[in-house]
Amino acid sequence: MPTSYKNLIDGELVETSATMEVLNPANEEVIGLVPSCGEAELDRAVAAARKAFKTWSKTPIEDRRAVIQAMAGAIKENADELYRLLTSEQGKPHDQAKGEIFGAAGMMAAQSTLSLDDVINEDSDTRLSRTRRVPVGVVGGIVPWNFPVMMAMQKIAPAILSGCTIVLKPSPFTPLATLRIAELIKDIAPAGVVNIITGEDSLGPLITSHPDIDKITFTGSTATGKKIMEGASKDLKRITLELGGNDASIVLPDADVSKVAEQLFWSSFSNAGQICVAAKRIYIHEDIYDEMSAAIAEVAKNVKVGDGSEQGTGVGPIQNKKQFDRVVELIEDAKSSGYKFLVGGEVDPSGSGYYVPITILDNPPEDARIVAEEQFGPVMPLMKFSTEEEVISRANASEYGLAGAVWTGDAENGVKIAEQLETGTVWVNEYLHLSPFAPFGGHKQSGFGAEYGIEGLKEFTYAQVITVKKEAAA
Ligand code: NAD
Repeated sequence: MPTSYKNLIDGELVETSATMEVLNPANEEVIGLVPSCGEAELDRAVAAARKAFKTWSKTPIEDRRAVIQAMAGAIKENADELYRLLTSEQGKPHDQAKGEIFGAAGMMAAQSTLSLDDVINEDSDTRLSRTRRVPVGVVGGIVPWNFPVMMAMQKIAPAILSGCTIVLKPSPFTPLATLRIAELIKDIAPAGVVNIITGEDSLGPLITSHPDIDKITFTGSTATGKKIMEGASKDLKRITLELGGNDASIVLPDADVSKVAEQLFWSSFSNAGQICVAAKRIYIHEDIYDEMSAAIAEVAKNVKVGDGSEQGTGVGPIQNKKQFDRVVELIEDAKSSGYKFLVGGEVDPSGSGYYVPITILDNPPEDARIVAEEQFGPVMPLMKFSTEEEVISRANASEYGLAGAVWTGDAENGVKIAEQLETGTVWVNEYLHLSPFAPFGGHKQSGFGAEYGIEGLKEFTYAQVITVKKEAAA
């Protein structure tokens, strides 16, 4: 029997007559029923958020901080239940789901310590000019299915810290853990400050075009990001867009193969490759290509693909059928084009669950679809390069600009290369590290604006400059 979940609107847990089914991607069984909201529920949530904004925006920041910290505490206290639920709806292995739940709570608590202080622009004999940051109002948050809890909490925390209120929509594929958190935080924030409503994709455009929402913070695909921008243009809503990526990792000839191979593997295959900043194109210098690719293939041999709730699983299923079909299509395209597979490539369509084997390609051409497009699955193309100049230009030849990495024995040279990559984040000799205090965001079609850090917090505010003319000095 699937469990029924409720939405959080105006401090109350509510149901709708229409519901949506949520599947476990490991076996395609229905595990949850969630409300399917439309215009009426959205209007109610937005009205509650608007009403709450009046007092919440005037609530001292210390009190807002305390609410966020209490929410983080509630998530941590219930982590055991939440990570299991997250695995069952999203597919990721238990240890990775645990990492997401504790990561989300930790990130909320850390972000709650930020503040936006006033800035004095001029304090002269004749004038005092000061900039203050004012919360924009009601925020619409729209979240994808790959890190559903992390993405939801990294929108809620800075939005309400800034003094805004929020109406958040999880992905229809992965709303369960977020709705369980809605129950847990129901009485922590005042009514209307945090509203969580679920619905089909069609609820998204209703949010982006809602006349009483002031800002959209969106994480998801570039294609949807473009639609959000269009929807938000009607009344010039502010928008933050965290979109897709096709991140390049550059492995220089002085990289230590024995240390780097396993890290490179997980930079592509964590969360079954469904990470916006997963390494999706790996460029290895020709001098170490054979040794490094053999070492990565060796790591792959020992990783189990399977149900994330089973002990020992390293790579879970793809989260949903549509994405599974897309990854299979890219693999089939690579096969029919005659590209060489180092590992995997044989998808078994029989049986239940959206499983794709760990798949590693051996030096496919730059214009192969599996290289040029965001795969978002357990697929890793390895490519050879000869010179730094050449690899920098190949890495930058993408419509995306989210993140990238350089692996080298000479960190100083790694930084020189990092500075030439056209992306919002570049790691040298590590991967996937995000700090709640450093801005995270994309360049080119990976979006704009930032999450995390002071820059992320500013996105929920506008700058108001107050200038006071003083009496002329005697
Ligand atoms: P998606 O764009 O299909 O959906 C994301 C959210 O948008 C969902 O809640 C969906 O219901 C909603 N939505 C769909 N159509 C909409 C519309 N027309 N208007 C408004 N909302 C709409 O993305 P996805 O498939 O859930 O997520 C995968 C993508 O997200 C990948 O491209 C990945 O790279 C990207 N992503 C980016 C980041 C980042 O921080 N840059 C992080 C995670 C994922």
